[in-house]
Amino acid sequence: MQDAYPELKETAGRVSKAVLAEEHRFAHTLDLGLRKLGEDLAPLIAEKYLAAHPGTALDDLRKIFGYEISWEGWGSMAPRSEAVYPGDKGFKLYDTFGMPLDFIQDAVRDVGLAFDQAGFDRAMAEQRERARASWKGSAKKTASPAYRLFVDGRAVEVFEAPAGYVSDTLKKTNPQSVFVGYETARAENCEVLFITKNNQVVRELKPGEEGEVILDHTPFYAESGGQVGDRGVLYSDELNTVVAEVKGCYYPVQGVRAHQVLAKQPIRLGDKVDAVVDTAIRQSTMRNHTATHLLHAGLREVLGKHVKQAGSLVAPNHLRFDFSHFTAVEDEELQDIEDMINKEVLRNQRVEVIENVPIDVAVNEYKAMALFGEKYGDRVRVIKIGDFSTELCGGTHTGATGEIGLIKILKEGSVSSGVRRVEAVTGEGSLRHFRKDHELETVVSRFVVPTLAQKTRKDGAPSSEEATTSPAEALRAELEKKDAEIKRLARENDQLRMKSASSSVASVGEKIKEVRGVKVLAHRVDNLGRPQMRTLVDQLRDKIGSGVVVLGSATNGNVALIVGVTKDLTSRIQAGKVIGPVAQKVGGKGGGRPDLAEAGGKDPSALDAALGEAYGVVEGLLGSG
Ligand SMILES: [Zn+2]
Repeated sequence: MQDAYPELKETAGRVSKAVLAEEHRFAHTLDLGLRKLGEDLAPLIAEKYLAAHPGTALDDLRKIFGYEISWEGWGSMAPRSEAVYPGDKGFKLYDTFGMPLDFIQDAVRDVGLAFDQAGFDRAMAEQRERARASWKGSAKKTASPAYRLFVDGRAVEVFEAPAGYVSDTLKKTNPQSVFVGYETARAENCEVLFITKNNQVVRELKPGEEGEVILDHTPFYAESGGQVGDRGVLYSDELNTVVAEVKGCYYPVQGVRAHQVLAKQPIRLGDKVDAVVDTAIRQSTMRNHTATHLLHAGLREVLGKHVKQAGSLVAPNHLRFDFSHFTAVEDEELQDIEDMINKEVLRNQRVEVIENVPIDVAVNEYKAMALFGEKYGDRVRVIKIGDFSTELCGGTHTGATGEIGLIKILKEGSVSSGVRRVEAVTGEGSLRHFRKDHELETVVSRFVVPTLAQKTRKDGAPSSEEATTSPAEALRAELEKKDAEIKRLARENDQLRMKSASSSVASVGEKIKEVRGVKVLAHRVDNLGRPQMRTLVDQLRDKIGSGVVVLGSATNGNVALIVGVTKDLTSRIQAGKVIGPVAQKVGGKGGGRPDLAEAGGKDPSALDAALGEAYGVVEGLLGSG
């Protein structure tokens, strides 16, 4: 049994070699799985070793099987001649890390252990059952009471008043609104079965009122499976005028499509309307939905089969896709995915819609991806895009991938632990995106002409000297250059201001006043920063030798004040006491040490007057002292 460990090592080596042949990133996933497998197997091997070598010390076991493995149940380890690797643990590796079953079987056999195949099969079956239960869906969600009346066929009770219109459909239990939107974007002669306003059942919506309307049949897609509801218009049957604007469509109850409308004309129960979906919006949404399927498949292809959809939003202007993955997706990976799915777009694959497929056939034969948390019936709809993607889906899709135009991934980020989100645009959205980029590029090229100018040969082909910097790189370099220039200029400007402020020190003589034997100077120098003001206060203190200096500066609508008192006077007069009343005049307050105090203010127009009062403030303080 001494060679058990070398064999494990060798298996690991063989495994890693096979992995190396795979994509580098797939290796990362598998690497985690492999480490987990090693941790699962090591204690079992050790137990078997103990059986063959009774009395081996724990430390010796560690030496043989490695310190770095964290072994659960070290203490309880017992000799065991027949060690079996549990099937449910194997299934976890298979399911979570995408580790192939034969990989696991080989690795286990190679270290002389048995594999619990029955346990593996059982875990797999349980998983399927859980998934099935999740597809089948549960009971109806609690709907608003108004819709409960509709579903139970009791809406008729509300309208028992004489001469009230009551549809035959309304008398039926659980009436459904038939969806005809896969085939058409326009349905005629749709009967208004039910109207609600503020969650109350009503007979009519007046012009300008908002409410919800159920039709006996409709081309409007109701929000589901991440795809937003259709928008459009209801026309009157005879007059062909707009009766209502449809702002959205959703399922208040399963099978019942409610149109969220703004009435333009009166809508009454029993009216017949033509329901017309805004096809431009619908088509943009369809492009994004088909692109979402491609993206899902692309993510699984590049990142690994552990990627599972965790949520999605398919709207007309963009798509959002959440999925399980344990780390950030590298830029390079995103680019690979983008390339891969756009290749499918360029191939113009037909998007096949297979209706009415038994769910087991869809999952087991078509290998369609079913989404957890989605509710599926016994018969499902399958969307198949060549060999690239097969999903269970009730959404609306383009006829072929070419209609998508182009898919551009805009960003990737984290939603929660283990869940990532990708956002993308298609069709006109992509065009808008590239147009914006192009505008930016044009602006950039104006600023960074020399590096960006593409020298072209006479025949128009780019020459070998063509600048290789991208607009983004060129812009970054240019901005850094400009930034450094601005900093240099700002420094220079500060120095100049300081210089002129310092030179004004020479001419402050007449502002120095003697107040009760103490020299006081109040002086204004605008546009100085605080560090410079402090320096200036020091210079002025030096100049007057003994006394009080009050310095004010207005910059961009703000006032800065500093008061300096020479050390010999701080026992008689404190800077903080001087600055308070002065700051108050400019709408501020401040404080500080006895020899230096600072304050801010918001009223530059009052600064001159405030400085003028500084002499009086000092006089008052000396008088009381
Ligand atoms: Zn879908």
